[in-house]
Order: sequence, then C-alpha cells, then structure tokens
Amino acid sequence: MTETNENYVHGEWVPSETGETIDVTNPANPSEIVASYQQSSAADATEAVDAAVAAAEEWRTTPGPERGSILREAGTLLGQRKEELTDLLVAEEGKARAEAAGEVQRAIDIFHYFSVKAADLGGTVKGPSGRNTTLYTRREPVGVAALVTPWNYPIAIPAWKLAPALAAGNTVVLKPASLAPGVALELAKALDEAGLPDGVLNVVTGPGSSVGNEFIENEGTDAVSFTGSSQVGEMVYEQATDAGKRVQTELGGKNPTVVAASADPAEAADIVATGGFGTTGQSCTACSRAIVHEDVYDEFVAELVDRAKSIDIGPGNDHEMGPQVSQSELESTLEYVDIAEDEGATLAAGGGVPEGDDVEEGYFVEPTVFTDVDPEMRIAQEEVFGPVVAVMKVSDFDEGIDVANGVEYGLSASVVTDDHTEANRFVDEAEAGVVKVNEKTTGLELHVPFGGFKRSSSETWREQGDAGLDFYTIEKIVYDNY
Ligand code: NAP
Ligand code: MG
Repeated sequence: MTETNENYVHGEWVPSETGETIDVTNPANPSEIVASYQQSSAADATEAVDAAVAAAEEWRTTPGPERGSILREAGTLLGQRKEELTDLLVAEEGKARAEAAGEVQRAIDIFHYFSVKAADLGGTVKGPSGRNTTLYTRREPVGVAALVTPWNYPIAIPAWKLAPALAAGNTVVLKPASLAPGVALELAKALDEAGLPDGVLNVVTGPGSSVGNEFIENEGTDAVSFTGSSQVGEMVYEQATDAGKRVQTELGGKNPTVVAASADPAEAADIVATGGFGTTGQSCTACSRAIVHEDVYDEFVAELVDRAKSIDIGPGNDHEMGPQVSQSELESTLEYVDIAEDEGATLAAGGGVPEGDDVEEGYFVEPTVFTDVDPEMRIAQEEVFGPVVAVMKVSDFDEGIDVANGVEYGLSASVVTDDHTEANRFVDEAEAGVVKVNEKTTGLELHVPFGGFKRSSSETWREQGDAGLDFYTIEKIVYDNY
C-alpha cells in the first residue's frame, strides 16, 4: 500500500483540512506510485504560518550554539539515512543514483556547515566618537521565513534555505515542489527527532497557487526565498515586495560555455557534455549553449556528438542518465526539438525518445545536440530544461562573449581556453553570477555565495555560504553610553 505523508505543522504530523491527497509517481516508471502527499489548501498554509509566528520568540532567544547543535544532530540523522533518502530521491525525481547520492550528501554537509555558523553569529565592535560608549552591531533574525522550492534539487535547495534560516534564529514555513516533496519532509523528520521545538519549522505540501501563494501573502511571514522558474518567480517577487517583505528569487538560466580557439576540443566536449547532459539537463546551471570558435568547431561537434550518443539512458538506479521529471517536462523538451528544426538548426544527435525495455514507460529523452544554431533562435534564447545543447559558431573571442551575454538570463557561464588573457577577459565581461574557467557550468561549492544576474535572479541577496546568512538576518546598531 502507498504511504500517505502528512504535513508537519506545530511539531505534529497532520492531514490537510481538504481531506485530499495527491500521488507522486516514478518518472522512470509512471505506473508506479511512490507515495502520496497532502493536497493542502490556503487554510492549511495559514495554520502553518500561525505556528511559525507563535514559535518565533522562543527560537529567536535560543542561544546560537543550541540552535546549531539541533542542526548538527539533524545532519547526523540524515547521514544515517543516506541510502533511503537516495532511494526516495531517485524514485520521485528520477535522477541517476550517483547524482542523487551527491545531492543528499550536499544536504547533510549544509546542515553541518550551518550548525557551526549558528554558534558563530557575531557582529562588529566599532570605535565610538564619545567616551564611555560602546558601539557595536548585532545580527538578529528577520522573523518568519517562507521558503518555496523546485523539484530539480528537492533536498539540496530546501536544505540550503532552511539551514541558514534556522541557524540565524528564524522560524520557517516551507512549501516543497509537488513533483518531489518526499525528501523535504525527511528534513523535517530529522529536525523533529533532533529536538527542534514545535512550530519552528512547518512543511505543507500542495499547489503553489494555494499554499505557496498564502505563504507569500500572509502578513505573518517576513521574508520570502523562492527558487524556481522565472515566470513564477517574477510574479512572486512583485507580490512579496508589494507586501513589504524581504525577498530573494533564484530563477532560470540559459548557460553558455564559450570554447576558444586554443581549447582542446575533446576536453571542451567533456565540459559541455557533463554540464549539459548531467542531471538530464534539469539543472538551473546546466549548459545549454556551446559557443565555439570556428577553428575548433568541427572537431568539437564530432566529440560532443560522440558523447551524446554514448550516454546510457534508463532508470536512475542503474543508468548514467535518468528520465525527465514529468510528462509535461518531456513534452516541453520535445517541443523545443521541433521548434529548433523549424527554425533551421541541424539536429546532430538525439532529438527523440530512446527505445528499449527499460525506457518504454518513463519520461526518457535522448541527449540532444543542435548545430548551425543562430543566436537569435528560440533554442538559443529560451530555457529548455532538458538535455539539449545548442552549438553556435563564432569567428573570434569577442563575438563569443557577445553571444554568451546576448540572452535575458545570467546564472552561470564558463569558458574553455588556454589563453590567460581570454580567461580573465571572460571573468571580467561575462554577465553571470557564477563564472568558471575550464570547468562545467554546473556544480557549486556550499561555502561560497550563489545567485544569478539579469532574469536569473532578483539580484537582491545571495544564497549559500556566509551570504546565505545575510538574507535571514538584519543588523541592529547599538550605542551604549555607560
Ligand atoms: P516552478 O514551476 O516555478 O515552481 C517552483 C515552486 O514554486 C514550486 O514549489 C511550485 O509549486 C511553486 N509555485 C508555483 N506557482 C506558484 C505561485 N503562484 N505562488 C507561489 N508558489 C508557486 O519551477 P520548477 O518547475 O519547480 O523548477 C524548475 C525551474 O527552477 C527552472 O526554471 C530552473 O532553472 C529553476 N531553478 C533555479 C535555480 C536557481 O538557483 N537559480 C535552482 C534550481 C531550479 P508546485 O510544485 O506545486 O507547482
Ligand atoms: Mg514547473
């Protein structure tokens, strides 16, 4: 029988007032129901916000090291459950097992990282103008944080919002993505067992338009951290700023890798293939454009096509590349294949659904390479969110940078070059929040800031590392004349 999961509100596991649940199916085998979740309403969300408001004072005044020890214990519990969490992540989201295990480990590491930060949240002491005066800053929690997260990193993203929010003394309401909510509820389970006081974290599953919307609208929440599509995120940003809340949104991407004339075509193809086809192309930082100097273009294309064709596709537990998360994501990718062909791009690899026993039922798609892509084509401008790389030819490095920057997005960008000046010019001129030299566009370290430029981000606050704490704290300046 399918397990029915409940919401986590005020330290209790409770059903939605709607009495309705929704099934999550396995994208590698959609007839298999993995688990079912509460199809909650705005009223359920309101109750969760009320619980977070009620718990705020106690949590805010809990000493940082004590908050940190709860995060540390939760991280340890998650570590003990790594295998089952990885199973659940593969079953709900579909990614390859190694990718899923890496993501679970990232969530564990994030809890440990912020457990230390919680104990270390100081301010600064400044020299006052007057005598017998102390002048210093304190960092206080913002209050109640509303977190809304996407399905593509269903445990890492909730963890990288939740851990700094709690470390800094905020209480939290979290709405995980409906396609893969299981692992986010596991975070709540671990925190609950680690001794988190009732109401400090509340997790409610259900539609973005009811639960997410209420979290953003409700006057009990003070800060909104959203990761997801630009379309929804821009709406959320308006709504949250109109309501006078602190808000950060991290959104879509159209990430380029520029391949310079000095690049080794095989090395460049490795970088583009791992960045573009890893996680089935469903990373916000996935490489979806290769912008290649004409001197190495033909060789690069041959190498990239080889890699695309050699990827082993199938259920994530025993294959290199898993399915797309849903029928609609698969259809959207296939629609972009049609659009690119209509626009005159050349299909050089993939472009369809694979055949075979293992892949018959699931939302599988072939790693796809388009060549002869013009920078103005939709395939070169719009986020596809599948394993599709558009290859464009340029005749010099300046043109490469122009093409790289010639989109609305600016999340991550990389360059492959042996030329020191080109590498530094790229760092200087790339319009992206993450810039990499001789590396893939994907892959982030947990202790440095992360966020995009342009339509990829609200550009307000960065996430992760020390910067992650800034969003969840507000500074108070104290003048103490004794
Ligand atoms: P999405 O459709 O925008 O959904 C993101 C979250 O917002 C989900 O929890 C969703 O709930 C919720 N939501 C939907 N409508 C809402 C509304 N009206 N009010 C409040 N919340 C609402 O994005 P997705 O399809 O899950 O994720 C893929 C996208 O995320 C891609 O564009 C990707 O580039 C982006 N992404 C960005 C980053 C980054 O850090 N820049 C990282 C990962 C992913 P439901 O699930 O119930 O619809
Ligand atoms: Mg979506």
